[in-house]
Amino acid sequence: MHSQTPNNLFKTRICSPIWAAMKKGAAVFLEGSKWTAGKDSNLSFWTDKWVSKGTLKSLIEGPLKRREDLLLLRDLVGFNGWNWHALSFPIPKHLALEIKATPLPFSSSCEDRISWIFSTNGDFDLKEAYKIACMEKAVSNHTPFQGYWVWNVLSLPKVQVFLWQCCHQSIPTRVALAARGVDIEPLCPLCRSTPETIIHLLRDCPSSKEFWNCPPPPRPVDPDCFYGSNLLDWLELNCRSSLCSPIHNIDWKIVFPLGVWNLWLHWNAVVFNNRRTRGTVRTNTISQAMEFAFLGLNVKHQASRHITLVKWTKPPLN
Ligand SMILES: [Zn+2]
Repeated sequence: MHSQTPNNLFKTRICSPIWAAMKKGAAVFLEGSKWTAGKDSNLSFWTDKWVSKGTLKSLIEGPLKRREDLLLLRDLVGFNGWNWHALSFPIPKHLALEIKATPLPFSSSCEDRISWIFSTNGDFDLKEAYKIACMEKAVSNHTPFQGYWVWNVLSLPKVQVFLWQCCHQSIPTRVALAARGVDIEPLCPLCRSTPETIIHLLRDCPSSKEFWNCPPPPRPVDPDCFYGSNLLDWLELNCRSSLCSPIHNIDWKIVFPLGVWNLWLHWNAVVFNNRRTRGTVRTNTISQAMEFAFLGLNVKHQASRHITLVKWTKPPLN
């Protein structure tokens, strides 16, 4: 085994918070990186990942002969090409093609080095790492992300972005911060009885329930349905509702997202500045919903198009 394989880099037990966070991304790093052979390479032919698809040991089946597992990459390839006779069995054709397509710069003066598979020069690429992380998350959850309806919500772009962050659990609640290693008390700072999750601060905290239940009730749906669903279902059902709000018969799908947004603003004002927002959540939500519904903010304006014909006229002679 190579003395400094990427696997070994992440095996320390006691480490700083930064290194602990890097260990969380280790799977992504290992997936996206490989060894690039250098001069006098010490890479193992079988157990070091020097082809993009993985270690050769993981790509073939069956036992290796005695001492065959100790072969180094340099034992099988040199300036004269590949010495396949050193192996006791033929390499599968698709794997041989993959191996031949892997550049091996033995002539360079560099040593063996780790490189990023998805970039042409071997440098790390955050965009590709993000794609790998998303793929791993989707595979581990077995469910693809279902929140694209957010971009069709009848509301302001900043509210759509907030809903998008809710769907991705990206709102910095105390529970989320504690889970990421921040030394913080996870209990809700307002009611001090329940952990501060997104659904708690937007719906289940007594101060939020006060808004959703206040007379006349701003919500047209029955309490069991409203308080019984999880965060994603709750947001989607209400943002796509076809019901009308008791407030001036404005569509509930307009009132609800603005209510959620104003609760979030109010929450931040209370927690960080120890003050209430200007106006109550209720009055702000109603005035913004009326403005949005009746002043045409939700109307999609047609782009005006004016066509000017341009014609070349032959200049007079001389
Ligand atoms: Zn609370």
